[in-house]
Amino acid sequence: MKSFIKNIFFYVLIAFISFILVASQGMSHNKLMVTAQKTEDCLSHDSLTSHKESTQVCTNIPQAAISPTLIIPTTEPTINPNLSDKERFLAIITERLPRIPAPNTFEYILLRAYGSIFVNQKPEIKLPEKVVFTNEQETKQFQSTLIMGAVNGTSQCYLQKPAADALNKARSQVQIPLKSGYGASDCTRSFATNSRFWRKYANNNTLEQVRQGRETKILGVVAPPGASQHLWGLAIDLRVSNEAQKQALNQNGWYRTVEYDVPHWTYIGLPPEKLTDFGFQNKVVGGINYWVTPL
Ligand SMILES: [Zn+2]
Repeated sequence: MKSFIKNIFFYVLIAFISFILVASQGMSHNKLMVTAQKTEDCLSHDSLTSHKESTQVCTNIPQAAISPTLIIPTTEPTINPNLSDKERFLAIITERLPRIPAPNTFEYILLRAYGSIFVNQKPEIKLPEKVVFTNEQETKQFQSTLIMGAVNGTSQCYLQKPAADALNKARSQVQIPLKSGYGASDCTRSFATNSRFWRKYANNNTLEQVRQGRETKILGVVAPPGASQHLWGLAIDLRVSNEAQKQALNQNGWYRTVEYDVPHWTYIGLPPEKLTDFGFQNKVVGGINYWVTPL
């Protein structure tokens, strides 16, 4: 009888241990499912948020989910002094623009006018993969990947964070008002706003003339739809009226780069003494200094 009770006890013990093991496995499986679900939620939510909110941190992502790690190049390009300005500029931007447009094409004309940003060396800055966006969707898709920063003392004025930080530093040294005073339209724009500004000053006929290389001056007044530096979060329109303002901007990597567009400033992120190394050419038009591309 004693051994019978012993056997019963033994089988109950085995059953109990098995139950505990199965239950604990089930729990950890459940836990994993929940974590995976949370990660998915967080990532998809993040990719859907507007650029203004895209800096939000998803604290519940396990480390393993944030891979592969982005390798950021930190070395400066080697400048070959034997090359011409144009050759040096092209050598540098080839590393950042996947396809350099062929000379005399519409894209090449746009690259000449607005391509100064492609020399950027700051790993935190995101550059577009082409010189002109086709539509609002393509523009939004690019803008949703940007990490933005607010320009201090403004309403809804955002730029890519390193550009905003540099501008805030310049504006802390000397007062520099935005062109409109405080508004968002001086800063990062949508494709629709870019197109609306274009239609204010130009039309399809003008666009055709630009495409054929017969009209270039308009590019200093307004950018064709999809081609504005304002879409990239790297340009701002300012009211600069004295040398101290210009100095503060230049020392913080901001320059006038679009010929005839006096209020327009571009974030290049390079100190003034480096500009010629990268192929930039200084052009004075109407007493105003522009650093233009050598194309
Ligand atoms: Zn502008």
